[in-house]
Amino acid sequence: TWDTVPLAPPDSIFQLTAAYKADPFPQKVNLGVGAYRDDDNKPWVLPVVKKANEFLLQDPNVDHEYLPILGLPEYTTAAAKLILGPESPALRETRAVSVQTISGTGANHLGALFLSRFYTWDGPKQVYLSNPTWINHFQIFRNVGIEPLTYPYYDPKTIGLDYEGFLDSLRTASPRSVFLLHACAHNPTGVDPTKEQWEKIADIVLERKHYVFFDCAYQGFASGDLDNDAWAVRYFVERGISLLVCQSFAKNAGLYGERVGALHVVAPTKQAADRVRSQLAVLQRSEISNPPAYGARVIALILNDASLFEQWKEDIKTMSGRIIAMRKELHRLLSEELKTPGNWDHIINQIGMFSFTGVNATQSKALTEKAHIYLTTNGRISMAGLNTKNIRYFAENLDKVVRG
Ligand code: PMP
Repeated sequence: TWDTVPLAPPDSIFQLTAAYKADPFPQKVNLGVGAYRDDDNKPWVLPVVKKANEFLLQDPNVDHEYLPILGLPEYTTAAAKLILGPESPALRETRAVSVQTISGTGANHLGALFLSRFYTWDGPKQVYLSNPTWINHFQIFRNVGIEPLTYPYYDPKTIGLDYEGFLDSLRTASPRSVFLLHACAHNPTGVDPTKEQWEKIADIVLERKHYVFFDCAYQGFASGDLDNDAWAVRYFVERGISLLVCQSFAKNAGLYGERVGALHVVAPTKQAADRVRSQLAVLQRSEISNPPAYGARVIALILNDASLFEQWKEDIKTMSGRIIAMRKELHRLLSEELKTPGNWDHIINQIGMFSFTGVNATQSKALTEKAHIYLTTNGRISMAGLNTKNIRYFAENLDKVVRG
């Protein structure tokens, strides 16, 4: 048995973390995994989450019963409002379906599975992913029989958006194609379209009747403002574009391990929404039966209590503010102090947790081998891995590998 099972390679990001952990070098730096760290390089339990934890500990009504199949209603309702906006036409017209999922990954999976089963495909089942994208998107779609294709997104020459290439593939893809779009803080590039660019993207999506699969794993991390980071999603809903949204509270609430997320399908009518909901319940039942309760309770408390919600917004500002400060400092060190060859403006123009530095695979390997700085070979760094104590060490070593 199992002689024919091919050996799969380990996950590259988690392998990087393992190598970092095993490295005894005192100045080692981990810029691989996308998890927030404070200025002491420690995981950060948000103060608002601590408060919610205390509250839940004392609540005599908290038990360990099953949640409903579609999740904790006070969580899914509030989560929908957070991403779609309290004034969303989709919510007013009760045509949004919200399902609690196993974090953003589970939302992506359930959304992909639902499309695979129920989207009226004109040709082969295919999804357009940005080039590059979160690497897991490929296996998530393949797992449910949808073939991933890519559309141009990142232009290495400008270290920015390949806007024309992106628009071109929207125009040339057959009508009613499925496009996965990162709602904000694009992973891995940190490059987002501007509002004007989103407007044009929406025009073509409407013209070509494409279906939009929004992945929103970083609401609040891009700009520090929850509403601002939901702008593209809300704008697309207002324009009447058919879409779904995958939502995660892993990053913006620091609840990585609690696996709290949601899938929101915006349907054209309440009747369509009811049909979609009924089928999502069947899929959910066969996959996980009922979602986990704890993280959803924490988020429900935070979203439904005005003072906790205010505190959460402060906590998000603390995280995004520290990341933005690190961007500014890295930019200053490279372009002003060390005068590292090249233009480093992309470090401050890119958005969210990640930055595509522009360093190539050889330089990235050299950083790891010579300086014990761990990053993916595509040159992506997690800004959250930098802090006031290690940023100079990183900048100096980056300077060295760039100079060759
Ligand atoms: N989508 C994107 C683009 C991501 O970067 C991530 C996290 N790396 C996710 C989805 C899902 O993360 P999680 O399952 O932890 O919510």
